[in-house]
Amino acid sequence: MEIKTISPKETQKVAEKLARGLIPGDVVALYGDLGAGKTVFVQGLAKGLKIKRHITSPTFVFMRSYPFIYKKKSYTFSHLDLYRGEEKSDFESLGLEEIFNPESIVVLEWAEKIESNLPKKRLDITIKTVNEKTRKITISRNK
Ligand code: ADP
Ligand code: MG
Repeated sequence: MEIKTISPKETQKVAEKLARGLIPGDVVALYGDLGAGKTVFVQGLAKGLKIKRHITSPTFVFMRSYPFIYKKKSYTFSHLDLYRGEEKSDFESLGLEEIFNPESIVVLEWAEKIESNLPKKRLDITIKTVNEKTRKITISRNK
């Protein structure tokens, strides 16, 4: 599926809508250059999951987690931004095996940095900058 947006707000709306179809255990991998709108998209996902806290990119840590409610139970929304990692070993301390679990929705910026560790079953979302305000968002289910 391919969608064009012409403002950050619109990109958030796309993400918000998508979030309503997510369930614990889902993994969302985000791809796109710096400034494409990955963090904006994550903010929309969080909004869709009724997370009230403002989401910014975790800069000095690779991950931040937030609780959200699904069917009256509490789960974890984990937001990873791997931009600053240079090699695989930088991510070892994260304990990737535990991050992907049935109690969590995990969303990753710069997911390609840990490509071989990504669960095969996931949503791949690529955001391309068309011009200052226009983005092309491609959503595909991997496996
Ligand atoms: P990334 O996380 O991919 O590096 P950010 O989400 O932090 O990018 O930043 C995206 C920037 O692009 C923001 O400053 C945002 O206001 C701007 N922007 C302009 N148009 C759009 C759009 N259609 N969708 C998303 N962001 C947009
Ligand atoms: Mg970002």
